[in-house]
Amino acid sequence: MPRQDHLTATAGRTAAPLPRRHRTDLTDRGELAALAVCLANTRWDDTTQVCAAMTRWPALGDGLTSTGLAVLGSAGRQLRAVFADAAAGRDREAVGRLNRLLTRHRLRPVISGTGPSDRHLHVAAVGSDPAVEYVAAAVWALAVFLCEQGVDRLKMCAEPACGAVFLDGSTNRRRRFCSPRCATRTHVRAHRARRRVT
Ligand SMILES: [Zn+2]
Repeated sequence: MPRQDHLTATAGRTAAPLPRRHRTDLTDRGELAALAVCLANTRWDDTTQVCAAMTRWPALGDGLTSTGLAVLGSAGRQLRAVFADAAAGRDREAVGRLNRLLTRHRLRPVISGTGPSDRHLHVAAVGSDPAVEYVAAAVWALAVFLCEQGVDRLKMCAEPACGAVFLDGSTNRRRRFCSPRCATRTHVRAHRARRRVT
């Protein structure tokens, strides 16, 4: 299989480009913001978690080097800190941290391909590790999300045993848990505590 070194690559891709509808590219900011969440939630020194992330974003892992893995780990920690600041109401710190990430992982968009059938966007310098491109695109998408939706939508799960970060897309911006599972765990624990008291 050829090296998949751009954002439009997808699992199982062969030499023939996939139809455009299958591509994840810079126009899909929702997907890329979700990738920013994944970067922040993944422990990049844990093989099981790395494999899970690669299953979700296969092109991220193709051609991945140890340098690329270090880029993912570093960006993931910094993105997690952005969410932690935002969730604690430290808006300026969250924005400052995200600005530093934007500076470190600059977009360098260029249209690549030899003709209309395989034309696609690269967002980092040609030949960059896929991780470099994905991090740049994910950081950009999270910055756009923050400016359009507000820093208060960047959250950390209120279930103490979880600690995952998430983007709150709810109408009232009051979502507290990353998943229904975490909400249930917390509510069951609170219910049991109340029964013990009464
Ligand atoms: Zn959770």
